[in-house]
Amino acid sequence: MRRNNTNTYHCSFCGRDKNEALILVAGIEGHICEVCVEQAQEIIDDELNSNKSGRFSEIFLPETLTPKEIKKYLDTYVIGQDEAKKFLSVAVYNHYKRLKQKKDDDIEIEKSNILLVGKTGTGKTLLAKTIAKYLNVPFAIVDATVFTEAGYVGEDVESILSRLLQVCDYNVGAAEKGIVYIDEIDKIARKRDNPSITRDVSGEGVQQAMLKMLEGTDVNVPPHGGRKHPEQKLIKINTKNILFICGGAFDGIEKVIARRVNTQVIGYSQKDQKHEVDRENLLQYIIHKDVKNFGLIPELVGRMPVLSYLEPLDVATLKRIIVEPKNSLIKQYQKLFELEGVKLTMTPDVIEFIAQKAIDYNLGARGLRSICEAILTDAMFEYPSRKNTKELVVDVTYAEEQLSKSKLNKLKAA
Ligand code: ADP
Repeated sequence: MRRNNTNTYHCSFCGRDKNEALILVAGIEGHICEVCVEQAQEIIDDELNSNKSGRFSEIFLPETLTPKEIKKYLDTYVIGQDEAKKFLSVAVYNHYKRLKQKKDDDIEIEKSNILLVGKTGTGKTLLAKTIAKYLNVPFAIVDATVFTEAGYVGEDVESILSRLLQVCDYNVGAAEKGIVYIDEIDKIARKRDNPSITRDVSGEGVQQAMLKMLEGTDVNVPPHGGRKHPEQKLIKINTKNILFICGGAFDGIEKVIARRVNTQVIGYSQKDQKHEVDRENLLQYIIHKDVKNFGLIPELVGRMPVLSYLEPLDVATLKRIIVEPKNSLIKQYQKLFELEGVKLTMTPDVIEFIAQKAIDYNLGARGLRSICEAILTDAMFEYPSRKNTKELVVDVTYAEEQLSKSKLNKLKAA
């Protein structure tokens, strides 16, 4: 048994005294405390995982891959948003072409991180998620609002990569080729007044901290996220080949665009051009300068060279979202009922009704599911015990009746 100079037992690994440690396990030659046991376990786990071939051992990049093929795949899951899909397909195609580039090539292709601007619930996350699925690369979604500058309350920016590591079981090689979707990037835009001294509300520190990561550098990542602390074992990840897709609603950016478009129009032959501007959807004219004027620092904007926008969803698009995607809502509910031996049919006017309600309640595409759930819950509750009923036809009368009973109906007043 080892004793230190004060003659008490201590951990042979970290030197902690018996009274400082919670548990001290005795071995033949010495002792080990509970903290060192935990750390040893982490090292073993990491070691074992890095040797695994893993789910993401190979990136799916067939020779025949083209931006058109990527877009075709996106079309099966994401409705509309053609412009964003086109930009995304090209950016992703170029990104992975860059990965295949020979190291001795004189012309180094730069990274094409992407910025997607569009109202919440228009498909930004869905686009990023779908593309990662197609390429079979690790994919993580992080929310920019939880990050704060070092020294403030919140998470370190490096923990963006912790999520990526977690989804690929700590396979560093796979993580280094992954895709990260950073949501709500607009929320870290610079604001003039900063009401808090404990939180980096201005967001500028976070933007600064993100720069290197987006560009490509070695980052020491805390394996479990959160704040880094001195005793923690960090995992080094190079972000050169990680594709960052950032998204945000940028509420109010239309005003910034309008201001710019107006001044431009005045500068040229006024009348003709004024008519061409579609005031209803100003987002389509967005350029990097607008994002800068909104409050993202120029360096960060510069690291997201691909900029695209998402269209607001109208009734027609929402109707298509209910029916068309490969795993559309209607297909999912039909499957659920089919498993009970029941054929579910929704009349076309019900589809229109649901889409219209999503607009009336201001819920967007995300609300479609809650509305369907409100309409079908009673049936889903009853049908499994009604063994003789083989068919359910949902028409507008039934849908209205069910919806009027639900809490969602209260949203109408809001
Ligand atoms: P955002 O990231 O823009 O806030 P999401 O991509 O998370 O929005 O969309 C929320 C949900 O709404 C998605 O999971 C999907 O079910 C549906 N949705 C939104 N836009 C579309 C679209 N264009 N095509 C198909 N489904 C969509």
